[in-house]
Amino acid sequence: MATNLNNSNVATRENRIGSITGYIGSLKDLASQSECGTLKGCSRCFSQSSSCLSSCALGQLSAIRDIAIIHHGPAGCSVAAAGTYYLDKVMAKKRGVTNDTVYVGTDMNENDTIFGSTNTLRNIILEVNKRYSPKAIFVSSSCATGIIGEDIDSIVDELKDEIQVPIVAVHCEGFKSRIWATGFDIADHAVLQSIVKPPREGVKSNKINFKNFYESARPEIIEMFKEFDLEPTFLYCNSTIEELSHISEAVATTCICGTLGNYLGNVLEEKYGVPYVRSINQCGIVGFEAWLREIGKVTGRSEKIEKYIQEQRAIYLPKIEEVKKELKGLRAVLGMGPGYTFEVSRVLNELGIEVVWALAWHYDKKYENGDVPPSMKYLLDNNIDFEASVADQQNFEVMNILNKYQPDLYLSRHPGSTVWAIKNGTPSVYVADEYMIFGYKHTLEFAYSILDSIRNRSFEQNLAKRTKLPYTDWWYKQNVGEFLVQDKA
Ligand code: SF4
Repeated sequence: MATNLNNSNVATRENRIGSITGYIGSLKDLASQSECGTLKGCSRCFSQSSSCLSSCALGQLSAIRDIAIIHHGPAGCSVAAAGTYYLDKVMAKKRGVTNDTVYVGTDMNENDTIFGSTNTLRNIILEVNKRYSPKAIFVSSSCATGIIGEDIDSIVDELKDEIQVPIVAVHCEGFKSRIWATGFDIADHAVLQSIVKPPREGVKSNKINFKNFYESARPEIIEMFKEFDLEPTFLYCNSTIEELSHISEAVATTCICGTLGNYLGNVLEEKYGVPYVRSINQCGIVGFEAWLREIGKVTGRSEKIEKYIQEQRAIYLPKIEEVKKELKGLRAVLGMGPGYTFEVSRVLNELGIEVVWALAWHYDKKYENGDVPPSMKYLLDNNIDFEASVADQQNFEVMNILNKYQPDLYLSRHPGSTVWAIKNGTPSVYVADEYMIFGYKHTLEFAYSILDSIRNRSFEQNLAKRTKLPYTDWWYKQNVGEFLVQDKA
């Protein structure tokens, strides 16, 4: 991949790495079509709304401490700000730090969308800088500014001399990609462009960049890495601008999910030679060990890591083997972002649970370096296959599949999805926290959570009895694939 950090725009996932949002078939077919280059995405003749990529991009950025987000668009585009603002404060409080990040919408009106409002934008940037003294300013676009061609880059360039902190344009017009995860790349691109500095000469670091969402397992990961003489820098939740400016000096970059960290990891490797840990993720035993061993290889700490693995195995494997006896033979459907869909499918397989259908909200047929995502590669190399679809959070398709397959369990990382499954009477596990299946300890806890949800099904049964769902018998008899229309090349 050749990244151009001089351009504030980053190409969409569809254009850069051939990602799609519509497909129905099997895992093996999805992989073989990806490999031979015949995989084309599908559109739907009916679709429910999904997420806007700007929430992803600006949600990531606003978690950085003490910065300003200036969202140039109509008020409706900034609707995610309230939730993001609240979450940032809670996450900072939980960690015991403060986050004085401000999120300002420019509230474009009808006049602005006809005549443009670059002057207003300039004044708002200057006022935000004066009033809040942020450590960096991210100025984002929206669909409206994208459509009228508002020249945000020029305003940002003009103000660079006047404002003493980094300021950068963030191009996250919602219409430019169907894939919300493009927003992760847009946030990374803005940080790489404006905050990250080249490594300082002579600085020797034992830091490892760890891109995650909400750093909930921060204390235990710090403790674990201490054993290998490594110090994690968690990104971007509660990061400081100072920390981010030096991530090019780290010994490696890793992430909790390839969908989230792949762009940052690859660019840091390409531009500054920071190795990106390419491995399946830390979910389950196989994933955790493969990930740790890859870190050992990349950072020259294999011996210490092997010792840690053997110690942990002795503690947890007997317990996990015990609980597996009760899980064997269960059947599951899952719907998640593509990183977790294929990682969690592997864990379910490890636990003896059959995956009957896996929905990925989108699919990246390759990552920035041109390789098939490791989670997918693992399943293929180990001859694991199941029915799979790419479904862009289309809950009506989830419901059709649940009705047809009647699984013992539905797993999703998105609450809006599990709620529907529960109303349908299907026991569900909301894999909310990214560390819920991390390593030995949390894999054991995850196995217990599954047991809890299938042992007592009265909640789902009672709710289903009292809920009238909007789906007709006609819909349940349909094959969801019939409603997909092949995208043009
Ligand atoms: S950027 Fe576009 S898709 Fe996103 S909220 Fe605004 S109008 Fe909607």
